[in-house]
Amino acid sequence: MVGNMNTLKPNWFSETCDMWPGATFSFEVKELLHEEKSPYQQIHVFDTTHLGKVLVLDGIIQCTQKDEFSYQEMISFLPLCCHKNPEKVLIVGGGDGGVAREVAKHPKVKEIVQVEIDAKVIEVSKKYLPFMAVGFESEKLTLHVGDGFEFLKNHTAEFDVIITDSSDPIGPAVHLFEENYFTLMKKALKPGGIVCSQAGTVWNDLDLVTSTLRYCKNQFAVAAYAYASVPTYPSGQIGFVVGSLDKDAKLDTPLLVFSREDEKAMNLRYYNSEVHKAAFTLPTFVKYQLA
Ligand code: SAM
Repeated sequence: MVGNMNTLKPNWFSETCDMWPGATFSFEVKELLHEEKSPYQQIHVFDTTHLGKVLVLDGIIQCTQKDEFSYQEMISFLPLCCHKNPEKVLIVGGGDGGVAREVAKHPKVKEIVQVEIDAKVIEVSKKYLPFMAVGFESEKLTLHVGDGFEFLKNHTAEFDVIITDSSDPIGPAVHLFEENYFTLMKKALKPGGIVCSQAGTVWNDLDLVTSTLRYCKNQFAVAAYAYASVPTYPSGQIGFVVGSLDKDAKLDTPLLVFSREDEKAMNLRYYNSEVHKAAFTLPTFVKYQLA
């Protein structure tokens, strides 16, 4: 069928947001599995014809069963694989459990601490999104419910890696994109520590990417933006700001390289060491904007 104006059918969900006005991503819904207003945000879980189960917070797609592995693997293994010994990892956000699932796979990780602000997201994910919430079953994990920004104020020189799997800078996540947050993360890291934060897409949020990277560069010896293809995020792309306290760190060069056997055993479907290197290679309009 040729595209037409105003043809969206009943039972299609459209993601609209002031952050990307004038364009939308839509999917066909088989069933609305859950709808609730938590103290922090509106939560929806859909079963869909094309994307499997989908988690939506405040109208914005957080993850879909079809492509969540791309985001979760990249935000986890980019920092973990360029740290010499990532024994203790903090995850901020990540209420669906997908990042905990990935971090727990890394052979050098001994201890994971996670702080998610919204207990309802955890509860709903455990019920409807077990393929991600399986991460909460890891024996390495200690899970706290609270604000990641406040949590960091009470932690000093404790973590090797901090991964911020945040929703977009709306509502409870606003502070996780500010320079103070990078200052707090720096304080909470051990020497040589690495951070990796969800940092938006270059097509819709280049100003956000630019400011987030600048805050990271201001606080860390080395910092860069890397990205992954995730078809169900706005414009199909999302990126991460990665920063290291080690001035000699080469963020685009993994220190730990997984063999094909490792990749299969760890069920890695997106991340490999070539993708790691390539993720830091930026198109011209981004490269010079972020320089
Ligand atoms: N992959 C997703 C994306 O980029 O859209 C993010 C998924 S994860 C569900 C995001 C989580 O961050 C949400 O569960 C939200 O409750 C949590 N969050 C937002 N602000 C937070 C804060 N200040 N402290 C801890 N968790 C926070």
